[in-house]
Amino acid sequence: MADEVENLDEQRKLEENPFASLKISSFEVLRDAERSTCKKCKASRKYYCYKCFDVVGIERSMIPFVSLPLQVDIIKHKGEVMGKSTACHAAILAPDNVTIHHFPTIPQFKSKEKVILVYPSETALSLGDLEKKTSSNDCTHFDHVIFIDSTWDQTHSIISDPRLADIQRVKLENATTYFWRPQRKPSTCLATIEAVYYFFKEYQKYIMKSDYDGQFDNLLYFFVFQYLLIKQKKRKSKRQKLE
Ligand SMILES: [Zn+2]
Repeated sequence: MADEVENLDEQRKLEENPFASLKISSFEVLRDAERSTCKKCKASRKYYCYKCFDVVGIERSMIPFVSLPLQVDIIKHKGEVMGKSTACHAAILAPDNVTIHHFPTIPQFKSKEKVILVYPSETALSLGDLEKKTSSNDCTHFDHVIFIDSTWDQTHSIISDPRLADIQRVKLENATTYFWRPQRKPSTCLATIEAVYYFFKEYQKYIMKSDYDGQFDNLLYFFVFQYLLIKQKKRKSKRQKLE
């Protein structure tokens, strides 16, 4: 009986915060943050500027800094609204490793065989299969990974661009989205920052061949904060309706 109660308790906690087991830094600095002016573009923002990829109204040293084993290039469709995208989270939290490009700009790569493109096409391999195929124990085989940040319809024009034609495509395994803006897509259709996070978790396991100890969890720092904030607001309004 006690076990059952405990399990229920665990389950309830997990429903409240499905990210509870992740190693994510304290949100205290975000809770105290006030809307302020971005030093670079002078726009009014809260927490961060999604155009300048910098924090606003908080000290940069107060939020986590994530270091990634590959350089990340995120290709954004120009039609995608910047404020709605989670791609900027990656650029802010891992500033040394992440670059955002606005399509039709696509980064040029010296050696395309060192690049991976995360896109679930028919020819895409899982990272586990890719590891077998490259049959190299050298984890420095790859140096860049590309993600596409756009709505489903816009993705087609980017993915069919000939400059991305010879790049190895990979798909992620069993990642589930907690994105709070459901776009009537299956739950495996991830927000960009979730895709970046799940990719590096799998990369660590299959390509780096080492245990994952939470070193990329802070990629979800803003994502989890916003998720919990929205959940809290919903709970509050539900309670007010009941009263
Ligand atoms: Zn700005």
